[in-house]
Amino acid sequence: MDIQAELISIGNELLSGQTLNTHGRDLGEALQNIGLRLSRDTTIPDDIPIIGSAIDDSLDRVDLVVVSGGLGPTIDDITRDALAELFSRKIVLDQPTVDKMEIFFEKKGKRMSLAATRQAQVLEGAAVLNNSVGLAPGQRIETNDGKIIFVLPGPPNEFNAILSEEIMPWLKIKYAHVKPLIVRFVRTQGIGESDIVTILEKEHFQPLDVDLGFYPGKGRVKIRLSSTADNENKVLEAQARLQGFLAEHIVTEDS
Ligand code: ATP
Ligand code: MG
Repeated sequence: MDIQAELISIGNELLSGQTLNTHGRDLGEALQNIGLRLSRDTTIPDDIPIIGSAIDDSLDRVDLVVVSGGLGPTIDDITRDALAELFSRKIVLDQPTVDKMEIFFEKKGKRMSLAATRQAQVLEGAAVLNNSVGLAPGQRIETNDGKIIFVLPGPPNEFNAILSEEIMPWLKIKYAHVKPLIVRFVRTQGIGESDIVTILEKEHFQPLDVDLGFYPGKGRVKIRLSSTADNENKVLEAQARLQGFLAEHIVTEDS
């Protein structure tokens, strides 16, 4: 079973070289651990029509979409407005978040500004996801046809906290029947990618049901073998054969 999800990262700074987009890596790994697949990672600017069409396009392809960024208090934080427009829903104030924010500002001896209150605004009908390290909560929105959109703040520590504390436990229950992928690696040193391919062609190495990925870097090549859980034997067998063919060049993880 191939359950796919897409990520939409929103932010001008991600497109202008100011910030390295780390959400795709973190989400891709988390989803893979429970057998789901991040099938696309789209980065777009802070622009309401572009945000709307990107989410719409993703929902045409997959049932699960994660949207990040633009939930803060500043005028460039327009993700909720884009969602409200796209789904024709109102933006409402989430009172528990307002209460939490009031306590936060009180402790700092400050009054909560109107701008700060924007962070407590969510889409009508959204499930509010606790943000344990920041103010703006995450949201889980379900469309009329049962598709799910998670909306998360941009800062990586907040994105990852909500992902691990709120989203992953929810997905694990929803997709309890999905088995995680089996992934193994073979690491080589002192042999180039094309020479590896030449050896593998000579040996007619084309393992059935096992996906191969080659990741070269700094004189080494990492080869990734993966398949669904029921093909564990095929992955292990392919890994052993690969290690045999490339025996002179194998490195262990710590060497
Ligand atoms: P905030 O309340 O901090 O404004 P936000 O939800 O509005 O949160 P953004 O304004 O889009 O998020 O981004 C806030 C910070 O998080 C910025 O410094 C930005 O560079 C960083 N950030 C946003 N998206 C990503 C991403 N995909 N990868 C890494 N960093 C990101
Ligand atoms: Mg912001």
